[in-house]
Amino acid sequence: MSDDGAPTRPDPTDRDGGGDPTDRDGGGDPTDRDDVLARYLAERDKRLRADGNEQYLEVTGRLAHYVDDPYVERAERDPVDREVNVAVVGGGFAGLVTGARLREAGVDDVCLIEKGGDVGGTWYWNRYPGAQCDTAAMVYLPLLEETGHMPSEKYTHGPEILEHSRRIARRYGLYDDALLSTEVTDVRWEADSSRWLVSTDRGDAIRARFITLGTGPLHRPKLPGIDGIEDFAGHSFHTSRWDYHYTGGTPDGEPMTGLADKRVGIIGTGATAVQCIPHLAEACGELYVFQRTPSSIDIRNNQPIDPEWFDTLEPGWQRRWLENFTILQTGGIAEEDLVKDGWTDLAKRIRDRALADPNQDFSPESLLRAYHESDDEKMVEIRARVDELVGDPETAAALKPWYRQLCKRPCFHDAYLQSYNRPNVELIDTDGRGVRRITETGIEVDGRHIELDCIIYASGFEVGTDWARRSGFDPLGRDGETLNERWDDGMVSLHGMHVHGFPNAFVIGFSQAANLISNVPHNLVEAATTVTAVITHALGVGADEVETTAEAESAWVARLEAGGRRFGNDPTCTPGYYNNEGQDPGRKGLLNSLGFPDGPVAFFAFIDEWRTNGRFDGLEFRAAGRTIETGTAVAS
Ligand code: NDP
Repeated sequence: MSDDGAPTRPDPTDRDGGGDPTDRDGGGDPTDRDDVLARYLAERDKRLRADGNEQYLEVTGRLAHYVDDPYVERAERDPVDREVNVAVVGGGFAGLVTGARLREAGVDDVCLIEKGGDVGGTWYWNRYPGAQCDTAAMVYLPLLEETGHMPSEKYTHGPEILEHSRRIARRYGLYDDALLSTEVTDVRWEADSSRWLVSTDRGDAIRARFITLGTGPLHRPKLPGIDGIEDFAGHSFHTSRWDYHYTGGTPDGEPMTGLADKRVGIIGTGATAVQCIPHLAEACGELYVFQRTPSSIDIRNNQPIDPEWFDTLEPGWQRRWLENFTILQTGGIAEEDLVKDGWTDLAKRIRDRALADPNQDFSPESLLRAYHESDDEKMVEIRARVDELVGDPETAAALKPWYRQLCKRPCFHDAYLQSYNRPNVELIDTDGRGVRRITETGIEVDGRHIELDCIIYASGFEVGTDWARRSGFDPLGRDGETLNERWDDGMVSLHGMHVHGFPNAFVIGFSQAANLISNVPHNLVEAATTVTAVITHALGVGADEVETTAEAESAWVARLEAGGRRFGNDPTCTPGYYNNEGQDPGRKGLLNSLGFPDGPVAFFAFIDEWRTNGRFDGLEFRAAGRTIETGTAVAS
């Protein structure tokens, strides 16, 4: 069915979603597009909840132990009192690539501040078994040419990505002055000295000329708001703080022998659970998977990378691969598909369908139709794959996703579905309702109580809550207003990076910029290059302050709002963090998720021109309170 409610023409090649008589298809015909859409809407409606994002618990107070660092012992140290050129907050990819680009440009005195015991960000925390990048390593791992690293596989595993993070830190000397296991607690602008004062939980006082904020989009774990969650007397942890002391084994794949005699429950079946469940299935005495909504599981087809082939790549290859991936993934045309994965395949299907239609007029309506038809085809394949791989028909039926592939993070895995064929694994499908009750000894679903030794929460991360809540500090700007206050009605910025009232501070992210979700590090590498151009220019012209003007900021936000390009706006989608749990995000939510109207490829071209033309339109550089004219070109 098209977006205006008119039925699309039937596709004679359409196969059913499995053809299984026990399939809980709501009584409709799975070969009929109208019935499929009706099923999508019914499944969505089952899951919509009045409490939306509020259903989740903030991991504070009595739950705070769920975010303790299980990987290092916190060593006491004396507080540091220092002046630095740049304080880089966050040691994940955002901070690492920012630090790297600054060092390349000759900016010294860069101090990286990181809550974890080492760099790596999401790859420091997420050490669950099977953790792996979902985007091809050739484009996902930043600075491969600069560091000379060849990824071992098309989709590399967590330990290699963590090691690559360390490689970047070593290569660029970012460990030298780094403050690890150190949480920023307060950041405030000191107008007299034009410095940011950064305070930490170690009692540090760092005065920084510039500050970069790379605290990550999925930074703060969240827990499901299930009755009795605090009553459970067994063991429990969140996937982003994997307790190998309890499970045995290692992130490198050593078997988790500690689970051999354990009854383990895992709550959640998102991208994280899909990667770790095959390993739990092998290790646990009994494994119970508590499912609210099944993920879509497409083919992974991971392959080792051939060193001989890798040696043939010409200098500059990574930039070409990044550009190629972004063009194809966003529906553009390129001579070849270098990455060849599920992301580019998805976009190519839509594009090719649109091009093949003789009546195609490339109007938004006809492109949407091409998208819907391609998606229908893909989801039929995905549901058929469940039947091919899962033996028990009832389990297979429950594992089939009934929504469009991009409603949730698409997953790719070649062992996940087969896990349910093991005798020690049971899928506890809650038919969209989710787990509602945890007891002292286990989990209760539909009147059945399952005794458990351990509960693992694969319940994801906060999205849509305030930036300051997720980051753990709230910068106080020049006018006595905090960033949270400034963004009370939604994010405002120039290029997603500069915020009026917050001179010399730079947000490293993707919102209000390229908003390329399929390969987040690409956004970060570009942002790092941009911030380096701004900082080197400021230092070069002797500016002690650089800030976006209120007019430039408003104009940028107006341009993005008029374009209306954002993620997660399909009203038929099942709830999740992509669409604000199915609730109207309001203007605030819209502002937080806006991207450049012409898409990521256009944004990257735009920002490259902006940072190299020497004008830095929209920024004001000041020295001793006086504006400095710009006009000198700065190399990117
Ligand atoms: P998600 O938010 O995607 O998944 C949370 C899961 O918990 C969902 O299945 C959700 O169900 C379920 N859930 C919540 N409450 C309940 C409840 N009461 N009862 C039962 N189930 C419940 O978190 P993930 O950690 O899986 O993934 C987060 C993101 O991290 C991904 O989307 C992806 O962007 C990223 N990621 C990236 C990887 C990579 O390779 N680059 C690998 C892994 C993750 P429901 O769907 O119904 O809400």
